[in-house]
Amino acid sequence: MDSVDRTSDLPMNFELPEEIRMLKDTVRKFVDRELIPIERTARDGHKLKPEVLAHLRSRAEELGLTNYDVPVEYGGLGLGLVAKVTVWAELARSSALPTRGLEIFGPAVSPILYQLNPEQTERFLLPTIRGELKWCFAQTEPDAGGDPGGMRTTAVRQGDHYVINGMKRFITNADDADYVQLIAATDRAKGSHGGISAFIVDMKTAGIKLLRAQELMIDDRPWEIAFDNVLVPVENMIGAEGHGFRHAQDWINVGRLRHGARGIGVIERCLEMGAGYAKQRKTFGHLLSERQAVQWMLVDSYIELHQLKLMVYDAASKYDRGVDIRTEAYMAKVFGDTQSFQAADRCMEIHGGMGLATELPIEKFWRDQRSMMITEGPIEILKMTLARHVLRTYG
Ligand SMILES: Cc1cc2nc3c(=O)[nH]c(=O)nc-3n(C[C@H](O)[C@H](O)[C@H](O)COP(=O)(O)OP(=O)(O)OC[C@H]3O[C@@H](n4cnc5c(N)ncnc54)[C@H](O)[C@@H]3O)c2cc1C
Repeated sequence: MDSVDRTSDLPMNFELPEEIRMLKDTVRKFVDRELIPIERTARDGHKLKPEVLAHLRSRAEELGLTNYDVPVEYGGLGLGLVAKVTVWAELARSSALPTRGLEIFGPAVSPILYQLNPEQTERFLLPTIRGELKWCFAQTEPDAGGDPGGMRTTAVRQGDHYVINGMKRFITNADDADYVQLIAATDRAKGSHGGISAFIVDMKTAGIKLLRAQELMIDDRPWEIAFDNVLVPVENMIGAEGHGFRHAQDWINVGRLRHGARGIGVIERCLEMGAGYAKQRKTFGHLLSERQAVQWMLVDSYIELHQLKLMVYDAASKYDRGVDIRTEAYMAKVFGDTQSFQAADRCMEIHGGMGLATELPIEKFWRDQRSMMITEGPIEILKMTLARHVLRTYG
């Protein structure tokens, strides 16, 4: 952990550049016109209905937002992270889209794929950007989730191949994927200190078996996958042996900041809904908005929204300037996930029984944000890492 310490300066200019303000307005209108009206009907289980996906993609194309997060050299808009957190925050005002695997603005391309060598780039990255190949990312195992250093899936070199054996769990979109970005132990004794490597594995390779999709309280249906003597050519390793965690780090930081950005959108929508309802619902002869208990719920979320925006934009602008944002990204995830869940909980309370109704998006925000506190790093584990940083900095 680096960046934030006692001596670091905070940027003093909080104005968004004009082009990002315009982007924000465009996405906000898109969310208001296209997503909020279809919140309860857009999906079939955990996937967008194909006709909905096609319509949203064509609207996104008309707005010029396709491939907004793909670098210019690969044909995308190449927006920086400040612009991206703006888009993510706006999109999160609606519960219409899946929380993972947003594909309306072009295929999802994780940053780990930008670390492929030129030959792998031709085989995997470019077809992925063109929408011809889909991927999933497999790190978690039944006995190693928050602590991936203890993973048991092994990759053992045999001549020109690695032989993969083990089991992965909770793998999003494994049923749709053409290839998996697989994290496996090349040296279990070293664990996360140089013993973990990353591979690209064709999902059709002999020995890979999708065992079952996990039913959850949220819409995702992540998969359990078995790897039984799966042969992977050595040229499919990403980077050097033992560098698997290093490659995942950039992706993880951006992914964690994405949680913070998502929290901004969820809190904003919960404020809109909570304040709107409080101003029209009367109990005991008075509007809920006249009750201090209700006002304070809204005010607390409003204060937390402001704090979260400062945290997320500070981290994003540092990232765009090439600063290591590990600490900021961890803090933004902890704070964003926790406070957005709190905002959904307050919004639910203000709505009383209607807060539980599935015709409103509140209960879905509540379920989704609770799940966010566990996925991509449970809060307690992130705090454990942050504690090391705090003790080193202040102790
Ligand atoms: C919907 C969904 C989609 C997912 N998609 C993917 C995917 O595509 N690819 C992938 O690889 N993984 C994926 N995951 C896995 C996810 O990232 C893990 O579930 C998560 O990292 C937690 O791991 P775990 O479930 O094994 O919890 P564990 O590591 O067993 O932790 C359980 C709980 O113990 C507590 N805890 C653990 N360690 C500590 C500590 N040191 N100090 C204090 N408390 C602690 C925390 O409260 C934690 O929630 C997904 C999970 C879900 C639910």
